[in-house]
Amino acid sequence: MIRSLAPIFLIFCAASAVAVHSSPVTAVTVKPKVLVNGTVCLFTAQVAGHPEKVSAQWLEHELTFSPGQDDKWYALAGVAYETKPGTYDLDMRVEQGDGQVSHSLQPVRVKAATYKTARLTVPEKYVTPGPETLKRIEAEREIKKEAFAHFIPVPDWSGDFIAPVSLAVSENYGTSRRFNGKLASLHSGTDFRAPAGTPVHASNDGEVILARELYYEGNCIVIDHGLGFMTMYMHLSKLDVKMGDKVKKNEVIGLSGGTGRVTGPHLHMAVRWSGLYLDPVKLLGLELPETPYVR
Ligand SMILES: [Zn+2]
Repeated sequence: MIRSLAPIFLIFCAASAVAVHSSPVTAVTVKPKVLVNGTVCLFTAQVAGHPEKVSAQWLEHELTFSPGQDDKWYALAGVAYETKPGTYDLDMRVEQGDGQVSHSLQPVRVKAATYKTARLTVPEKYVTPGPETLKRIEAEREIKKEAFAHFIPVPDWSGDFIAPVSLAVSENYGTSRRFNGKLASLHSGTDFRAPAGTPVHASNDGEVILARELYYEGNCIVIDHGLGFMTMYMHLSKLDVKMGDKVKKNEVIGLSGGTGRVTGPHLHMAVRWSGLYLDPVKLLGLELPETPYVR
């Protein structure tokens, strides 16, 4: 099984100069094989025995591993858009029931992605909003901040994340865009070529933590999938869920549309983890374990 996960490295902590105690972590693999800035990735650690907790620090983020089968522990993570190519240590920490803690370091390479640039034209009110609108935008920033503070301490997802619509991608993540020739902005998600009224499906199981109209996002839904992983669906014409709803993968959560700052109807999907926006296409391409937290 571990062989099919495209191992990029093996760690044996007896040989590691930084190990506090001999680490029970015998191997770590990561998918996809090549990590770039914007990537969503899955770490799988093989950990001997029955530790209480397995976690890691990587790229200044805390990773919580969840137990799977056959001594495997899983953690979904991501690389920020801003991360420069290089090698970054995954600092694994294993905590035993008796309080004993062991560390092990594992180098992980990040390569550079190539992203495009684009010019767009939208109604001027979305580029130079008036004072009243600026107040609204500020208030909505607080609403989103509060929503994003939501935290589920276990993975709520199971298995692969699915595309919210079965339609072509019209604009990729990471494109540097210029609106009306002046406002520069980064495209922080994936656009699907969805005509207005297309049913939009939840990408995985989770809890709806925001479902409302916002100035730029239009009608917007945010689903929390646990451990800091969220998916967002924007510019909808109709919301079929409300805050607090538990949703299942593939459940229809609303209809696509052209609300908010758009050049025309489409579905914008975003993936958020630990405050970072990651590439949804990379998440949808990951093969994930069905029940990562069942032992
Ligand atoms: Zn978009």
